[in-house]
Amino acid sequence: MKCFNHPAVDAVALCKSCSRALCRDCVAEVGLSCSCRNRCEADVALLNDLIERGRTAYQKTSATYFRSGFFTCLLGVVFLVLGIAGKASSTRSEWLVFLWITGFLFVGWGVSQLISARRFKQK
Ligand SMILES: [Zn+2]
Ligand SMILES: [Zn+2]
Repeated sequence: MKCFNHPAVDAVALCKSCSRALCRDCVAEVGLSCSCRNRCEADVALLNDLIERGRTAYQKTSATYFRSGFFTCLLGVVFLVLGIAGKASSTRSEWLVFLWITGFLFVGWGVSQLISARRFKQK
């Protein structure tokens, strides 16, 4: 591939912003990326910034999902244990149904949050 600006010169890089082929004279390095010298540097810097921000946002979201998923599961288990204990000590059955349903809902919700946490982490 030849340089976009110099048809006689071989290109050494592609601009991350406009994807033009660039020779050694035309390329500028922005962070770990290449951009057109004096043309796309600001765009590529912005792009890198967005990607970096997106990456840390995903990690933070994942951690938040994991924490709340874990506690929601734990809460659900507490309700289920209360339900089991209540059955042994002949607590009123409406109360037991409430405990069981709430327990299952919390565990289900918590597990779905843990799955979301995993999905965010994989990105
Ligand atoms: Zn460019
Ligand atoms: Zn060039």
